[in-house]
Amino acid sequence: MNIYAEAQNLHQLGLEMYDLIAKLYPICRSITGDGVRKSLHILQELIPLVIHEVPTGTQVFDWTVPKEWNVRDAYVKNDLGEKVIDFQVLNLHLLNYSTPIHRKMSLSELKEHLFTLPEQPDLVPYRTSYYKENWGFCLSHNRLKQLEDGEYEVFIDSSLEDGYLTYGEYYLPGEIEDEVLFSCHVCHPSLCNDNLSGLALATFLAKYLGSQPNRYSYRLLFIPGTIGSITWLSLNESKTHHIKHGLVISGVGDAGGMTYKKSRRSNAEIDRVVEHVLSHTERESKIEEFSPYGYDERQYCSPGFNLPIGRLTRTPFGKYAEYHTSADNLKFVKPSSLADSLGVYLEVIDILESNKRYLNINSKCEPQLGKRGLYGNFGGKQDKRADEMEMLWVLNLSDGTHSLLDIANRAGIKFQAIKGAAIALKKAALLQECSEEVVSRNAIEK
Ligand code: ZN
Repeated sequence: MNIYAEAQNLHQLGLEMYDLIAKLYPICRSITGDGVRKSLHILQELIPLVIHEVPTGTQVFDWTVPKEWNVRDAYVKNDLGEKVIDFQVLNLHLLNYSTPIHRKMSLSELKEHLFTLPEQPDLVPYRTSYYKENWGFCLSHNRLKQLEDGEYEVFIDSSLEDGYLTYGEYYLPGEIEDEVLFSCHVCHPSLCNDNLSGLALATFLAKYLGSQPNRYSYRLLFIPGTIGSITWLSLNESKTHHIKHGLVISGVGDAGGMTYKKSRRSNAEIDRVVEHVLSHTERESKIEEFSPYGYDERQYCSPGFNLPIGRLTRTPFGKYAEYHTSADNLKFVKPSSLADSLGVYLEVIDILESNKRYLNINSKCEPQLGKRGLYGNFGGKQDKRADEMEMLWVLNLSDGTHSLLDIANRAGIKFQAIKGAAIALKKAALLQECSEEVVSRNAIEK
């Protein structure tokens, strides 16, 4: 896997991810319903996604799969018959999961079902009512102030009935059964960074992984937030022991720096890999400790699973003013940010794939590197001294207990350089890959 060759394509991939976001943007998604199906069908044009349907009423741990919600139209008309709020203009105008209604009412009665953001008076908020039956509309505070007393016609053509919870899954078998899980939520309507950027990046990761052989098996989940991960974990508990690393993908399209939230284990390999990538970069980045709040890492990292899954985003949710408002739109996400985020994810995958342990075959005193032509001979670099240091570190610490990432971190050298040294040393027959057996024996002796 050569991420540097891929990097040349990143700019183009950023534009393609953006186009996918633009295509998905108008669809009204929710935790169930045709909006999710339609979105997953669009992704199926790019990757062989399997779509699962879980019936309403299915018990999933302490939760129950809810009724399926669908909406065709919704508006509020004034007494002149003019639509003053219109779902067709922006689907955020409707409280997500609104029950059907069609009747006339006074402004004061209507106001009890209206949601605005007085602090951001131009923006329309995003609101849901999944687990309490209700109806409502969201609008800008400025628009609300313009509404005059009078009679309003409220119309919501929706249905909330027994149906299914829909999610998408892409499983790609690798050389080994151990797997890497990537998970993104698909339940938000017209919101770009929170939701669609994650869908787009996960789709392009799947495309990339599907184009080559991989050591790990990979599983990508496109699921409604919270209830989706609970449902998947409940129905697939027997598979979870294969998950060795994972990331929750969301918020990867804004112009901010990268933020990594560690897994509950805090020192899992995925935590160390992402920390390594972010510390060896010029882009702005931040590492956060685990907390039991957030996206689906809450479920993956619940104590009964405690999976090694972190969350890799740009600006975290709730930390940008556009979050959960109409301003999280196509102007807010940038092709260049999407490309940059994809590059970080590809680098993480590259390290996971090649983070092996090796044994120095010539471990009694240093081998003579010169006679093997190992100076300045790999990675296209001119700096012989750096090459030598990388090789010396790999030779010295390749005793079966240190992974290449351990060596890179101890040496303070970027993983790619250490990996390059290991490849050269292996080619010169100075290094051999440790079998899993040797790794566990050495771990016990240690
Ligand atoms: Zn959200």
